[in-house]
Amino acid sequence: MRTALIAGNWKMHRTAAEARGLAEELRGVVGGTGASADVVVCPTFTSLQVVGEALEGSGISLGAQNMHWEKEGAFTGEVSAAMILTIGCIYVILGHSERRQYFAETDESVNRKLAAALDAGLKPIVCVGETLEQREAGQMEKVVLGQVRAALDGIPAEAIPGIALAYEPIWAIGTGRTATPAQAEEVHLLIRQFLRSIFGDRAADAVRIQYGGSVKPDNASELFSQANIDGGLIGGASLEMESFAAIVSAAG
Ligand code: PEP
Repeated sequence: MRTALIAGNWKMHRTAAEARGLAEELRGVVGGTGASADVVVCPTFTSLQVVGEALEGSGISLGAQNMHWEKEGAFTGEVSAAMILTIGCIYVILGHSERRQYFAETDESVNRKLAAALDAGLKPIVCVGETLEQREAGQMEKVVLGQVRAALDGIPAEAIPGIALAYEPIWAIGTGRTATPAQAEEVHLLIRQFLRSIFGDRAADAVRIQYGGSVKPDNASELFSQANIDGGLIGGASLEMESFAAIVSAAG
């Protein structure tokens, strides 16, 4: 059985002082849910330290929203795996569609970041997903599985269970338009079958595949009850602690 993973992506929201307040609130509300899911929040780089301090001993993990693949060097504005690890991160989001869309993230850079994250001992959350145009043109499977294949290129089967994939249809992110549970489950099953064909049963059965895209308290239970949906990557609703706690509870 896979433990559901609920990750909050705070994106470029909240100053460090505000993020600390949010984390303290989170500790109170999620701490009281008796959640069986693994819970993680991913604030901005500038808030990692204070959010980590506020969550200490709570069982809620810290994650970063991005990292660079090099260990160090002349890469102005970038942050390495060791930097986020030593500040307390357990998880790191890689290849979010906003990074692909606005910051020229490519399948190749996601693959390099994934290898570096695993090497450093981080737990990566690798995002994949198609645009509405691609879906309507019948390219969903080709696009999503192409992203999965490229991200995992050269990664050994033993490492796969330590990776989470997040299926996030771009047309559902921040739009209020959610994939139906059946639409999401179809893609999650495709991804798991694809992983099975390449990495074998053990890896495919263990890997967690989250759904992301306008997950809210009122649609979370049905999404998370699908056989191949192992929790969610939550954007907007993760900034509202009551909503986030309700989503965590929906994961069991
Ligand atoms: C996300 O940013 O990964 C996301 C799923 O956002 P939202 O929940 O706001 O759609």
